[in-house]
Amino acid sequence: TIGLAERVIALKPSASIVARQKVTELQAAGKTIIDLTIGEPDLDTPAHIIEAAISAARGGDTHYTVPMGTPALRKAIVQKLKNDNALEYGLNEVIVGVGAKQLIYEAFAATLNEGDEVIVPAPYWVSYPDIATIHGGKPVIAECPETDGFKLTPQSLKEAITARTKWLVLNSPNNPTGAIYSREELSALAEVLREARHVWVMTDEIYEHLTYEGKALSLGEVAPDLKDRLLIVNGVSKAYAMTGWRIGYAAGPAALIAAMNKLIGQNTSCASSVSQAAAAAALNGDQACVAEAAETFRKRRDRMFELLDGTPGMKLRKPDGAFYFYPSVEGLIGKSTPDGRVLKSDLDVALYLLESAHVAVLDGSAYGMSPYLRMSFGGALEDIEAGCRAVRKSCEALV
Ligand code: PLP
Repeated sequence: TIGLAERVIALKPSASIVARQKVTELQAAGKTIIDLTIGEPDLDTPAHIIEAAISAARGGDTHYTVPMGTPALRKAIVQKLKNDNALEYGLNEVIVGVGAKQLIYEAFAATLNEGDEVIVPAPYWVSYPDIATIHGGKPVIAECPETDGFKLTPQSLKEAITARTKWLVLNSPNNPTGAIYSREELSALAEVLREARHVWVMTDEIYEHLTYEGKALSLGEVAPDLKDRLLIVNGVSKAYAMTGWRIGYAAGPAALIAAMNKLIGQNTSCASSVSQAAAAAALNGDQACVAEAAETFRKRRDRMFELLDGTPGMKLRKPDGAFYFYPSVEGLIGKSTPDGRVLKSDLDVALYLLESAHVAVLDGSAYGMSPYLRMSFGGALEDIEAGCRAVRKSCEALV
């Protein structure tokens, strides 16, 4: 057998793999499963973006680009940061990746030495701790309980910082809770960061435009003095329904961007030329499609809330952004299923809903905070409605 690298062995398979396997089994047995786990919009990429890709391919945009991305796309990114976030970046301070995920990967690859600490507020998108671990980093999980709106407080940030801290990762709007940091909350965190001059901040702003209550602000706009240790990560996946095109971007100090550029040159060489043309068209074009998408998700969110509110054992809060509910299922722990099994964890709840309601949801343990479930409204309204009704019925059947 092949001897795997220690850093790969160190990656723990997520608990939700169990649920995934169950989904496959049930589907193989001919059952229809309603999938509320999806992490992407079900919408189609807007037509003008697809047209731009077709023109680019026909026009000969079919070669390698420079690793950091075409000048046309980088110009569009610089302009986007100016328009939306009031931030000034130069062309050598922005970089394009194969999804935001590659940029998170390269940023950690470029900066983490063995044992360097990365503060990850929980609940979190599981890739942050995993990618940090791959690069020898040590994730330091800062719990953000629901009573704090699932947001990092200045006090918990202060307590998490050590001499070995390299990065703080901030994700607003948040996956999985939808929490958005207000100007005041960002200012208060910036106060702590001013005292901790060795700490860099990665802000994952991928859900920036999918907001329902208030606007998502960039830390860079609220605390411009932190710009020299700030890496903004964003992309076109969620706002323009472009997950499969694989284009993300980052903005930060030129020296960090240059190091990431070096790594991309030896990793993917560059992102797809055609996808880059499409992303430039997305950023430069009419933004009405983004507002429309946000409106679609708002309707789905409100409908999900309506159908799930009052479900026994489930405590719901309406998310301010992104497209996930993260209800507490503390009230279901200890209950028994109709066939007499006791639910001991959120994973048990997720498995029960899968078997009994034929609805797939993710357990909070995969996001670093239990007992919760992550239920996506990225999918079609009919699925959301059928899924929520079935979940409610299954919860009512517990004793
Ligand atoms: N950041 C967060 C918080 C996400 O939820 C996701 C995708 O699920 C990403 C980044 C990755 O996006 P991309 O498709 O640009 O790699």
